[in-house]
Parts: sequence; C-alpha cells; structure tokens
Amino acid sequence: MPRSESGDAPPPLIPKKRHNLETSSVTTSSSDDSSRRRKRKDRRSRKNREEGHANDEAIVVTTNGDHATLRPGTFDKRRGSVSKAARDPRDEPPVKKNLKKTAAPNGTVRAAPSPIIDDDGLSRPSRGTRERREESPEQAAKRLERMRGAVRTLLECVGEDVDREGLLDTPDRYAKAMLDFTKGYGQDIEDVVNGALFQEYHSEMVIVKDIDISSLCEHHLVPFIGKMHIGYIPRDTVIGLSKLPRIAEMFSRRLQVQERLTKEVANAIMEILKPQGVAVVMESRHLCMAMRGVQQTTASTITSCVLGCFERKSKTRNEFLSLVGVSRSS
Ligand SMILES: [Zn+2]
Repeated sequence: MPRSESGDAPPPLIPKKRHNLETSSVTTSSSDDSSRRRKRKDRRSRKNREEGHANDEAIVVTTNGDHATLRPGTFDKRRGSVSKAARDPRDEPPVKKNLKKTAAPNGTVRAAPSPIIDDDGLSRPSRGTRERREESPEQAAKRLERMRGAVRTLLECVGEDVDREGLLDTPDRYAKAMLDFTKGYGQDIEDVVNGALFQEYHSEMVIVKDIDISSLCEHHLVPFIGKMHIGYIPRDTVIGLSKLPRIAEMFSRRLQVQERLTKEVANAIMEILKPQGVAVVMESRHLCMAMRGVQQTTASTITSCVLGCFERKSKTRNEFLSLVGVSRSS
C-alpha cells in the first residue's frame, strides 16, 4: 500500500477536492505606501529568500487567459538533491542571474528564473530555443528552406539521385518531420502545465505508468522508444494527471540522451509541485544500438531519477519500483 511520508496532516476520510483557482493579486502598492515601509518589506523578503523561506506573495502564472494561483515560491526554490553537482556537465544548471520576479506586459508576475525552468518557462533553453520560439513567419520559412537544402545534401552524400521521383518531396517532408520531432523546443512548462495545480492534502503515492516516449538520441539523431513511469508523493499540491505525460512529451521532443531526459522530467516536476519526492524510471530501446554499432536489437536501457523522499527512503523507492513493475524482468 502507498504510505504517507509525514505523520502530520492525516488525510480526511472523504478528501475534499478544492480547486484553488482564485487569483490573488501580487501588486501590493497602495496610495499611502511610504518608502520606509517598502524598504522594510524589501528587507524582509530578501531575508526570507536568503533563508530559503517562501515569499509571502503568491505567484500568478498566466495560462490561456485564466489565472491559477500557485503556491508561493513554486518556481523559485531549489532543492538539495537538485543542487548537487550534476554528473553530466551539460546538466549543470546555469548560473543564477536575476532573482527578481519579472512583470509580464499584462501586469501579472511570471515565475522567477530558476535553475530548471527559466523565467520564460522554458526548461534549460539554449539560444536556438528562443530563436525558434520567437521567429516570424518569414524566419520560419527561411529555416525550413535551409533544412530542405541540408536534407538534399545528405541524400546526395549517401549516393542518391535527389531528382528521382520517390525522393522529390523527401527534403520537405523530412524537414517538417524533424521540426515535429523537436517541437518540445517551442513549448514552455507553464503552457504544458496550464494551471492544472490543485491544492489537495493527499500524501499518498501517485503514479502514472507506461507513458509512451519517443525521442531522438542526440548523438545519432535516430529514435529511442520506450516507456516512462512517473511517481510522486504530494506535499499539499497535486497536478492534473494528464500533465505528467505532457511534461514527459515536452522533454522527449528535444534532442536527448535517456539519462538526461529522465532527470529533466523529475527535476521539472520537483520544481513545479514541490512534492515530498519524485521518482522517474524509463525503459527504452535505442535504434542507434539496434541498427548500428553493437546491433543489440533486444537490449533495453533503464534509467531512473529519484528525488526527495524517494532518494532518502529505500522503502518508498522499492514500493514505487514494485508498483511500476521494473524489478520484475519482463
Ligand atoms: Zn545514439
């Protein structure tokens, strides 16, 4: 049976579903705001931040015109396990730039920059990520044309006749398919989550298993295909269940290595929900192993990332693993 992590706040017998959707205002300035009071408040919030306390203010994330109130500091606090040095230097979080919340043009406050999710909601964006997201239709057309040219070059280089009938539209088709395979670069985590965070004092394990994943290996640009299992133990917020596969999809539609994909999904959920813990396990078959190199057609690769209570408590971790059936050899 899933077990609660904390002894306090026992779940009510009939859990009340409270969709905490009211918007709280974050603009606190009033007409009689004296500069002294503001200074005092600044000092206090700075102190809170330094001590790792959540801010008193709620962060309002704009999602398709609706406002959802997230827990304070939903995006701006770091966890111990995340702050550990990453094994892969590319997974190293970017240096903290600006801790201040930035006001969006419509007056709402966007999530603060964080090591996992940046201030525009993109996760670990590169320069190209932003360029692609913010491009005009003309720039998009130019990008597609460059990609078609590149595919034509590839076809010529493998010894094909690019003008034969079967290949005439291949550069166009492949370029568009490639943009689709990598559409995760154009998505941000706020759009994906779309405000589906609900206050709910449920502290049992929640698992969504057998999430289909297809991604491209960044070393060979060939697919790896498999299943992901995601589990978490909420603290006081739960996420709409369909959002877990969507978060996994967003990261899988970028060039990946399986190890990083697993970690990014776990870290993003940790960052958004601040749960007691997150566990992500992924099993997949890599076509770069099956079609080339060692030619292992049946080998599968399993990666996992456990954070919070799943990392600390082997009992919780084992319960998750047995529930998703990873320990069982299939
Ligand atoms: Zn590969």
